[in-house]
Amino acid sequence: MRSKLVVGNWKMNGGLAANAKLLDRLVSGWQSGAQTGSTMPSSSGSADAAPRGLAVCVPFPYLGQAQAALGGSPIAWGAQDVSAHASGAYTGEVAAPMLVEFGCRYALVGHSERRQWHAETDQQVAAKAKAALAAGITPVACVGETLAEREAGATAAVVLRQLGAVVGALGGDLPKIVLAYEPVWAIGTGRTASPEQAQEVHALLRAALLKAGAGEVSMLYGGSVKSSNARALFAMPDVDGGLVGGASLDADEFLAIARA
Ligand code: PEP
Repeated sequence: MRSKLVVGNWKMNGGLAANAKLLDRLVSGWQSGAQTGSTMPSSSGSADAAPRGLAVCVPFPYLGQAQAALGGSPIAWGAQDVSAHASGAYTGEVAAPMLVEFGCRYALVGHSERRQWHAETDQQVAAKAKAALAAGITPVACVGETLAEREAGATAAVVLRQLGAVVGALGGDLPKIVLAYEPVWAIGTGRTASPEQAQEVHALLRAALLKAGAGEVSMLYGGSVKSSNARALFAMPDVDGGLVGGASLDADEFLAIARA
């Protein structure tokens, strides 16, 4: 079911002391927002009394800290990657059942930085999504085109190819994922897609999901989301929230984005 969701991606940032402050501020700030009666509009436009969804994806070593700080709060946590394998001789990898032991609800798969720096293929990303789901973790599958691909008019082909691998691997489990559209040229660059550019791609991804029987998947936009642009982006009809990198390291800014 489509629901509003904002997920923070800390990337390879943090430290025990700084994390403690950030997590503490998120919990108190989000709960005080909820207590002031905040509700979110559902996809049908009616008010939904459920708390709005907020989550942070932290580096692996800090999952225990996130679990201790966020457990019992309405804020979920997750990992930034997950192995396609459940166990075995895969040195350096972290399996989905391990993430479950740390209470993870989400795992990012196919973030462009994984595709770019670790040469992850569409098929590996799809296998990771499948492994996460097998353990009961919601994969946040990331797709997005580079600037060169956009300028070559290949945006639709690229994102549909990336999504297609996930669709092919998951079959009937496809409705259980969250999809994030993150144009690579907008990640960490300060250059955000306009709400219209984001909507255009979200609409074509939504149509592909619908065709695959998963039209209700929540879709997040990611790429230099800030409190100043979040409201306009999140107002687009096929944008259900955001995947937020840099700005998720500042509690007040991240909370302001989530409230948007
Ligand atoms: C991200 O890391 O997924 C991201 C969108 O980063 P930023 O918000 O910093 O562009």
